[in-house]
Amino acid sequence: MRRRLVAGNWKMMLSADEADALVAALRDDLPGGTVSDVLVCPSFVYLKGAGEALAGSPIALGAQNVSDQVEGAYTGEVSAGMLKSMGCEYVIVGHSERRALYGESDEFVGRKFLAAAETGLKPILCIGETLEEHEAGDTNAVVRRQLEAVVGIAGIATFANAVLAYEPVWAIGTGKTATPQHAQDTHAYIRSVMAGHDAGIAEGIRILYGGSCKPDNAADLFGMDDVDGGLIGGASLKAPSFLGIIAAAG
Ligand code: PEP
Repeated sequence: MRRRLVAGNWKMMLSADEADALVAALRDDLPGGTVSDVLVCPSFVYLKGAGEALAGSPIALGAQNVSDQVEGAYTGEVSAGMLKSMGCEYVIVGHSERRALYGESDEFVGRKFLAAAETGLKPILCIGETLEEHEAGDTNAVVRRQLEAVVGIAGIATFANAVLAYEPVWAIGTGKTATPQHAQDTHAYIRSVMAGHDAGIAEGIRILYGGSCKPDNAADLFGMDDVDGGLIGGASLKAPSFLGIIAAAG
């Protein structure tokens, strides 16, 4: 049984005071019996404060993006080493907003994934189809292409410490959640693609679902065999709803 992971992607949201208040509420109100791993991914500028507030808490820290470069004259970029030195354990790579709005290609995502993995961060690789691709029945082809590109660049061994997140683009921030069965079918397919490279890694890797996951639909999603937790956007911005999803994960 894979240990579930519930991760909050705070996106470019919250003032500094709101971020401080949210992290304090999660730290103070996380139930003692929580067995799932819990992660928050604030904006870069809030990482230091969040890391200090979470010291000694079981809540892990992650970033939302990382440079593909290790070090150098890359104005505005943040390297994996910098994130590690700030106490980050995880980093999101390939979020659909970055692919769609900032033109990140499968290959570029692969280089970011590799930079993160080589530094000892756990990359959370986001994959998922657009509405058009979904309606054309191309879900499996899209997630396979996105996954194979990263396996090709980073190598299958780097996935031993990685997490996958299936995030159908049409479900992100739209209030339209994938049905538990669609999530399960796609997660099982993703796992089968991984198994084509390494059966052990495929069995152990956590595949999160992301896309309008809320306290009232989380238990049904997490109840599916191949859904190992969630990557949560909007519902992670308020402590009660994020804690409700964590409770659904157990
Ligand atoms: C996300 O940003 O990764 C996400 C899943 O957002 P939401 O939960 O708001 O759909």
